Amino acid sequence: MIKLKYRTGLKDMPSYDVVERDWNIKVNANESNLNMPPLVEERLMARLSCVAFNRYPNEQVDTLAEQIAANFNLTKENVLIANGSSEILEKLFFAFGGRGRKIVFPWPSFSMYKIYAKFSASTAVPVDLREDFTFDPIAFVDAIKENKASLAVICSPNNPTGTKIPVADIEYIAKNIDCALAIDEAYIEFDGGTVTGLLKEYPHMMVARTFSKAYALASARVGYLLANKKVIEMVSKACMPYHVNVLSAITADTVYQMRDEYVPRIQMSIAERKRMSELLKQIDGMTVYPSVTNFILVKHPKATQINEYLESLGIGIRSFGNAPRLENCLRLSMGTREENDTWYKAIKDFVEGNVQ
Ligand SMILES: *Cc1c(COP(=O)(O)O)cnc(C)c1O
Repeated sequence: MIKLKYRTGLKDMPSYDVVERDWNIKVNANESNLNMPPLVEERLMARLSCVAFNRYPNEQVDTLAEQIAANFNLTKENVLIANGSSEILEKLFFAFGGRGRKIVFPWPSFSMYKIYAKFSASTAVPVDLREDFTFDPIAFVDAIKENKASLAVICSPNNPTGTKIPVADIEYIAKNIDCALAIDEAYIEFDGGTVTGLLKEYPHMMVARTFSKAYALASARVGYLLANKKVIEMVSKACMPYHVNVLSAITADTVYQMRDEYVPRIQMSIAERKRMSELLKQIDGMTVYPSVTNFILVKHPKATQINEYLESLGIGIRSFGNAPRLENCLRLSMGTREENDTWYKAIKDFVEGNVQ
């Protein structure tokens, strides 16, 4: 047996293998629990029937970039389409990171930031959120300066805490640092409060967005970066040729053209978040963090047991076990009203001891 020489450090990288089952109710990954609206699907199927499968995708990705650019009053040179915002983030870490480079982000936040930092051979500098998971912009700027960071990443609204980072705080940071500043707006559609309006004024700022959450398109893996033309040009150099396939490009393009179709369900998700937050607060011992996303983070002394009980009922939620800062925390994404009622009743029954 030949001993294969894997890249140094690869063995110790964590795998992103989420243990999935055939859940009765799946609210563990912040996905939409509603598939594509029928009108969008109809239009999409018609378009997919005339794809030139023999050609590399170029035009279709460009068309999507143009459409997105127009919505933000930008040009297509300000947009990079990629395989989910995951690819965008990975490329940003690659483009601004490297050996000896430091990348600063608030913590707890999206778990992948630490992994992209490792992959890009950069040093991750997590800056603690306050005890209640609110953000301290002054401490953040200090950390960027002390570390002479080359990139700062802020997830706003933040996953997994659900909390909002005010636009004014982000502008304060943009004004006071001299490195790249990327804002991960994966959940922005559930709240508003985007920083895209600041892009022209602060050319060192960039915004990553995704079709996976509000636009219920996690399967297609499409995301985009909005940034200064030069930044897009540089980050594009880190991507493979034709990295976004034609099926995903056409799908995202159709969804974006018909994005009004998604307004009612986004509003429903927001309404459910408000309703469920209020209900969860009524459960004995439950801390509910304020959320501006399609999920809610809660903390309960019996979190592990609650999670096990829900699992036994075929309800998949995200439990953080004993992860530092997230001990006894559970994250629940908003499903349909019925699904939410079901998991809520199960949690309530368990906490109130109505379960044997
Ligand atoms: C889901 C998520 C993403 C990644 O989404 P893609 O499916 O790769 O577009 C990025 N950032 C945060 C904070 C997320 O929660």
